[in-house]
Amino acid sequence: MAKEETKMEKIISLCKRRGFVFQGSEIYGGLAGTWDYGPYGVTLKNNITSLWWNRFVDTRDDMYGVDAAILMHQNVWKASGHVGGFSDPLVTDVKTNKRFRADHLLEEMGVDPKGMTLEQMNAVFKEKKIKSPDGNDVSDVKQFNMMFKTNVGALQDDSSISYLRPETAQGLFVNFKNIIDTFHPKLPFGLAQIGKAFRNEIAPRDFIFRVRELEQMEIEYFVKPEDYKKTFDKFLQEQKDFLINDLGLDASHIHEVEIPDADRAHYSKRSVDHEFDFPFGQKELLGLAYRTDFDLKQHTEHSGTDLSYYDEETKERFIPHCIEPTFGVGRLMLAVLSDAYTEDIIDGETRVYLKLSPKVAPVKVAVFPLLKNKPMLIEKAQEVYKMLKKDIKGVAFDDNGNIGKRYRRQDEIGTPYCVTIDFDTVEKDAGVTVRNRDTGKQERVKIEELTSYLKI
Ligand code: ATP
Repeated sequence: MAKEETKMEKIISLCKRRGFVFQGSEIYGGLAGTWDYGPYGVTLKNNITSLWWNRFVDTRDDMYGVDAAILMHQNVWKASGHVGGFSDPLVTDVKTNKRFRADHLLEEMGVDPKGMTLEQMNAVFKEKKIKSPDGNDVSDVKQFNMMFKTNVGALQDDSSISYLRPETAQGLFVNFKNIIDTFHPKLPFGLAQIGKAFRNEIAPRDFIFRVRELEQMEIEYFVKPEDYKKTFDKFLQEQKDFLINDLGLDASHIHEVEIPDADRAHYSKRSVDHEFDFPFGQKELLGLAYRTDFDLKQHTEHSGTDLSYYDEETKERFIPHCIEPTFGVGRLMLAVLSDAYTEDIIDGETRVYLKLSPKVAPVKVAVFPLLKNKPMLIEKAQEVYKMLKKDIKGVAFDDNGNIGKRYRRQDEIGTPYCVTIDFDTVEKDAGVTVRNRDTGKQERVKIEELTSYLKI
């Protein structure tokens, strides 16, 4: 008997079959930890990032958008602590030389690695005689720096070293002074950016959950030190509202987790993650960190540029404190797909559909002529299609295959509504049928009322 596919395998194959996400460099056998987004994947991703930008930047008066360069001066990463400390614990299989995350192997053995030092991990590996997944002995646990290193320009020496940024955050800190000098904002205010980041993960896995080239949406929000707590709490709530109200995630799948002292990043005085029930378990979806004045102080020291703030009212000069909400776009998309993936029985047949919120669905409405070979139906359907496109983003036209097949296809990509033009539409001016994805029910709607009926 064939092994039953897991939910994760089903999501991955739907993504490939329907043009959401493909393996990176697939025709060459793939490049681990990289994924390419196809047309529906790009649109779904863009819908997620624009909802984010709209909520956190466009509708607020206290946010400044930035799009910083991916390559930055090497001293940025010395100041931030990444050159010295951006590493994960790894062990090497002594026979195959394959590398594995030590903390992941411990977790698989039922040991909680949170807060463990390298020595403590080593002790557990020895005591429990933990082997590599291939059954061989492993080396001692070592730290592995996850930044991709490169050289800028023709000179290949230490002075030309740069890194593909491992987080977008530093691009915001280095622009703090530019924003102060050009926009003169008053505290509190924030800088926001969406962009690529790169991490040489030891073990990329779980589809787009842990990748080597990722996209982040980050905010560095600057406050007076005494305002940290209330700002932190507000952002926690905003993050949750974004997940539930904008992306349509199920609130019961979201968990707020306070990160203990020993597990926090070196710059953070308090961190709370939002974890999500992915098909492979409860894992980090996004984070919120209180970075204090760490980064601005470090950059002041390393660059020699004063990154303090002058308060006109109190006539005081000080370095603001910073709260950082951070979001991974790929993980958000996977959470959306995972919550939306549904199987049910309709007309006696199993159907697979994505119960996407209309706000994120790549196609909001699909327009069909009932039959492909009747010019009068095609013409009317084209007319309706063009009319809807004027007001709604994400309208598709489909005349391929029978109507049942078209419904299945739209269900699989999560299209909330399908509009069919039939003979009654043309001959009796009887409006169109609108079919609801979730219930499968159809309703007749007058053409002049269609846009407002569908307005999403
Ligand atoms: P993890 O513990 O899962 O490795 P992290 O704590 O290192 O994640 P952060 O440094 O806080 O992650 O990064 C901010 C956000 O960027 C994460 O909440 C996540 O959404 C996303 N992210 C981080 N690393 C990856 C990755 N390798 N692949 C996809 N998304 C990632």
